[in-house]
Amino acid sequence: MVKFYITSSIPYVNASPHIGHALEYIQADVIARYHRLLGDKVTLGTGTDENSLKNVKAAEARHISTAELCAENSASFRKLAEKIGLSYGPFVRSSVKEEHWNGVYKLWEACKASGDLYRKKYKGLYCVGCEAFYTESELNEGKCPVHNTKPDDVDEENYFFKLSKYQNRIKNLIKSGEYKVLPEERQNEILSFVGSGLEDFSVSRSVKRAHGWGIPVPDDPEQIIYVWFDALAVYLTAAGYGKDEENFERTWPADMHVIGKDIIRFHAIYWPAILMSAGLATPKKLFVHGFLTVNGKKMSKSLGNVIDPIEVMEEYETDGLRYYLMRDISTFGDGNFSSEGIKDRYNKELVGDLGNLVNRVLTIAEKSGRAEFSGKAELDAELHLDDIKDKMKKDELHEALDKIMEFVRSCNAYVNMKEPWKKSGAELDSILYNLLESLRISAVLLYPFIPESSEKIARKIGTRIESIDDCRFRELFRGKLSRGELLFKKIE
Ligand SMILES: [Zn+2]
Repeated sequence: MVKFYITSSIPYVNASPHIGHALEYIQADVIARYHRLLGDKVTLGTGTDENSLKNVKAAEARHISTAELCAENSASFRKLAEKIGLSYGPFVRSSVKEEHWNGVYKLWEACKASGDLYRKKYKGLYCVGCEAFYTESELNEGKCPVHNTKPDDVDEENYFFKLSKYQNRIKNLIKSGEYKVLPEERQNEILSFVGSGLEDFSVSRSVKRAHGWGIPVPDDPEQIIYVWFDALAVYLTAAGYGKDEENFERTWPADMHVIGKDIIRFHAIYWPAILMSAGLATPKKLFVHGFLTVNGKKMSKSLGNVIDPIEVMEEYETDGLRYYLMRDISTFGDGNFSSEGIKDRYNKELVGDLGNLVNRVLTIAEKSGRAEFSGKAELDAELHLDDIKDKMKKDELHEALDKIMEFVRSCNAYVNMKEPWKKSGAELDSILYNLLESLRISAVLLYPFIPESSEKIARKIGTRIESIDDCRFRELFRGKLSRGELLFKKIE
């Protein structure tokens, strides 16, 4: 069995999850579930990044402790993960000592032993929102280009990581595809950034500036480990680093990190450098998705257009949201969420195409009173399985789903053309054989995208979803049929 370790990014918990987090969870989950169909031993690791200064400030504003705020907000991310069907294993909260801190200490000590950590007096402009330093030239009229706020003046002695030492190794790692960055334009962006020269970066801050919140530097109680160093380490501790070394040996390196485009430098440059310094294997792939707008506008609290994915799922169920985001948003590009868009996709494609097909086929098949059907495979030519598998191999999820739905539509067209309600005997037998085999195969192919509905389809036709190898027309369809309730109900 091949192991496959995939992670979502580890979100900050200073606010509640929004639709963008849902997109990332779904993408990671689709890939994880597809790899299970391939027969891989999959671990999906996730968690929450809690040692950030933003959390301290958000907690202060609400007059509660930072620990309370983190526990509360982390729980809302976990709730989203559950509701959205994220098939995760480990969920690491970075502020919880026994879950995470030993691994961070271990990583720190390993980098120190390589001679890559040193102390330096430092002056800089720090944006708490970004948890990153900026140079004057990167600012917009003295303000952070992302948050439009004035960065803090920082003047202190910190630990630095010798990133400059890894410049060539990082370049080669990415250029050779040993650590593949998807899509290609992001890879080029990173290579050009590396080419412009890498500078050492600060990996700690004073206890005072951190408001005492975070993981202390081993043997230096005056310093707290920089939140990115500690957050990236969640990928290690989720695999058992510093806790369960046997499991870590089996799981690491990550086969894929799924992240948003705003944190690409941390993942494509800092992270592999830290791992190399610690003598650990580097990840194999970085999957970078875009951002969502809502009704064409950037999501923001002040505009009041932040979409709560839980509310969307209350209306469209989990699979309605999963389907819409995977079908409408191009895999690596930016996309737009709109309430008309989801309703349209849901009614036209889930109710109209897929639900309708399942219902029609089962109505006619049940009437025949049989549980075995055979005939000549006619719909097999419509199933572009190699194409679908190829798209999934390239992680082009949106394109793969497009192809699968093309197959579903071709099955509906086949029903219209064949008019099975007018047929009987061997002819009807053959039509139903084709349609039931198609439903069986569709359930497997759709499973990564809409797992609950796919399992319902499989139950209705008395089959099971096990392996991608089952996606071919066999000589015979056999299964206990039970039509039951409609798969999807139209939303007015
Ligand atoms: Zn900022």
